[in-house]
Amino acid sequence: MSERWDAIVIGGGPAGSTAGSLLAKAGRRVLVLEKAPFPRHHIGESLLPGLSPLFKRLGVVGDLRRAKFFVKTGGSYLWGRSRAPWSITFADLEEAPGYMVGRDETWAWHVERARFDELLLNAARRRGAVVRQPASVLDVALSGGRVDGLSVRGPDGRTRTERAALYLDASGQAGLLASRLGWRRFDGQLRNMAVYTYYEGARLFTGPRRNHIFIENIEDGWVWFIPLSERRVSVGVVTSLSNAPQARAGLEAFFLARLARTKEASARTAKARRVEPFRLERDWSYRSRRFAGENFLLLGDAAAFIDPLLSYGVTLAMHSAELAADCADGALAAPAKREALFAHYDAAHGARFDELRDFTKFFYDGNRRRESYFWKARRIADHAKNRYAKAAFTFLVSGHPHWDSLYARGYFKRFFSPLGVPARLRRDRRFLAALAASGRPDLALIDDPLPEPRKRAA
Ligand SMILES: Cc1cc2nc3c(=O)[nH]c(=O)nc-3n(C[C@H](O)[C@H](O)[C@H](O)COP(=O)(O)OP(=O)(O)OC[C@H]3O[C@@H](n4cnc5c(N)ncnc54)[C@H](O)[C@@H]3O)c2cc1C
Repeated sequence: MSERWDAIVIGGGPAGSTAGSLLAKAGRRVLVLEKAPFPRHHIGESLLPGLSPLFKRLGVVGDLRRAKFFVKTGGSYLWGRSRAPWSITFADLEEAPGYMVGRDETWAWHVERARFDELLLNAARRRGAVVRQPASVLDVALSGGRVDGLSVRGPDGRTRTERAALYLDASGQAGLLASRLGWRRFDGQLRNMAVYTYYEGARLFTGPRRNHIFIENIEDGWVWFIPLSERRVSVGVVTSLSNAPQARAGLEAFFLARLARTKEASARTAKARRVEPFRLERDWSYRSRRFAGENFLLLGDAAAFIDPLLSYGVTLAMHSAELAADCADGALAAPAKREALFAHYDAAHGARFDELRDFTKFFYDGNRRRESYFWKARRIADHAKNRYAKAAFTFLVSGHPHWDSLYARGYFKRFFSPLGVPARLRRDRRFLAALAASGRPDLALIDDPLPEPRKRAA
């Protein structure tokens, strides 16, 4: 039976909308299935500057500006062995040699996810993706490692089967395919949960730190303080999952007891008014054994999730969706290359995820000296051999993929090197922007051999 769709994307969160938009933009018949009516609440509000190039590619910069989300310019921390507060400013990257981060890529937004997610999904609709909502994927038909079809309850309440050449699972923590296949592995070291709420009238930081995310460690975890607007802040407590029974017995008492242990966050919310209920969210990091199967890819949280300490969630989800959409588009154009493209996705997104998860684990040890976080970042990300390790830290927590990563090299190799572009220009952002503006990279360029996928235990 011929498929009606080139690709079906399960889930219309940031990863699903990104994949839907890019595939539709490439001329593919793409169906996005989202079970929740939007707008809907979602946690994950502090974005990273590394999303800027992708926002441009998705054509949503104007929408995001009009939404007037609160601009994020850096991060402030009461973290590490010394109890003195410290900060990083993304704009410093402009001055740091070798990172090639443009001025408009050195800030991000703190967003209300209900509005942000709706905006991205609407952009996918505008690009030509067919979005069904509310539409739940109830079951996945699998045979011999292939997805054969999805059983979907649509907006009319009727259940029908949908089939496509390729399937992209962006169902978030539900992780439909990874769960069905038994591929998900939980991380014993990052086994946490979060209790959070929203306040109005909190005392924001002043000066350059006003627009920063602020995090502060406490005895048994840490606390976030995220300004969402001049009036509203998001405040959350992250602690071990083993505290869940105690938290469930009384979320408010549990939250307030931990907030009281903070120096800054408690003082800043002392006279503020809580405007939403307390919510509890499981925050247990995990990774699927693989991110690709014969005719499907796993994206965003459906593939892997890192504890939100360094706010990588949405950025990684959307970057993975971008790479997945490009690989899926390539596979639809040249089915013989599907295996290599999917192996590239698995290896490239896997390597980036593992690196950032390991860095998050290193940062989790709040007893280190601040400089040791900087030097660790320099070992990971500083191909430019900057004198100041803090620049490498700032770069790594900005969410820009570093050019030496398999992720970035995959892009250059697949799309740019066959053009015979001199190495010097391949790292020139103005050149790349001009190339991107000239149309999508010709799929014939995929003839270039792909990096060897890393061998993984079966
Ligand atoms: C406590 C906490 C704090 C966080 N803070 C941050 C932060 O500050 N910054 C940040 O970047 N990230 C943060 N994150 C992570 C962030 O929430 C996620 O990484 C991000 O939302 C992943 O996007 P996604 O599109 O992969 O999944 P989601 O945003 O979860 O979207 C998945 C979508 O799939 C839909 N879906 C699920 N099952 C089905 C189905 N069967 N059929 C159809 N649709 C389905 C869901 O309704 C949902 O809309 C935080 C996470 C936690 C737990």
